[in-house]
Amino acid sequence: MQLKPVIICVVLLLLSVSSAAESKSPLFNGENALTHIKTQVAFGPRTIDNSEGKQATLDFIHQTLEPLSSKITVQPFTVQGLNGKNIWATFMNPKAMGTANRIMLGAHWDTRPISEQDPDHSKQTLPTPGANDGGSGVAVLLELARLFSIRKPEVTVDLIFFDLEDMGNIKNLPFALGAQVFVDQNPFYRPSKGVIVDMVCDKNLRIPQERYSKKQAPLLIKEIWSIAEAQNATGFYKQQGTYIQDDHLPFLNAGIPVIDLIHYPFPDYWHTSRDTIENCDAESLEQVGNVLSAFVYN
Ligand SMILES: [Zn+2]
Repeated sequence: MQLKPVIICVVLLLLSVSSAAESKSPLFNGENALTHIKTQVAFGPRTIDNSEGKQATLDFIHQTLEPLSSKITVQPFTVQGLNGKNIWATFMNPKAMGTANRIMLGAHWDTRPISEQDPDHSKQTLPTPGANDGGSGVAVLLELARLFSIRKPEVTVDLIFFDLEDMGNIKNLPFALGAQVFVDQNPFYRPSKGVIVDMVCDKNLRIPQERYSKKQAPLLIKEIWSIAEAQNATGFYKQQGTYIQDDHLPFLNAGIPVIDLIHYPFPDYWHTSRDTIENCDAESLEQVGNVLSAFVYN
């Protein structure tokens, strides 16, 4: 007899906690994202020449997302004689049927096997550590996954980790090999819109409006920059950038509006042995993460 009021109180408490959690968007934590970069860099280069580091990174992404997402698949492929794996995690909202209400967020998880921009010639044949170029995009997506698991978005969201982005101009290979394969391998996957994040952790974050994105997906550029403006995300520059070959291009060429959020002009450690965690900042990651969070939740 004494138990009943206690049970009612507990139930009421639980109800109020859950409704409070549902009423506002969970916050993106830049420190969590920074830790995700450190974890990846500690695995070593994520290149075809370092299969151990690559497998450890793949396991890390998979193990992080498996309990959070509705579905996760690894898609192996061979292209130009190279073996790669794209990783695809879905946060399904059954109410958002079809692809009309489906958002894709992507990043490349491979890193560059050479450091051809390094001023020290002896280091140009070494792989880059890939903290910003490779690590940062993955880190933002993994922290967003935590938010999506706390509060389910109204739309279905796909997080896609592309392999073999950064083989461009090596033995005449193009950039974005994995993303091109993904678009070819999944002809029925046509999200309504998407964003690629690449090199988004720099202390002096500077993301202008990448030119292919602006030309081929102007409405989406407008949408993202108006969110950035409302959030006072100062790393987003309302200026036209240059044309950059990245994982968004295969989508744009297939008629899917996908834009590229990428630091430009490239930092001086880009494609060098100095692409390390010291250049990264939790606050920059948080700016990008909060803009993407608002993009998904609103
Ligand atoms: Zn690169």
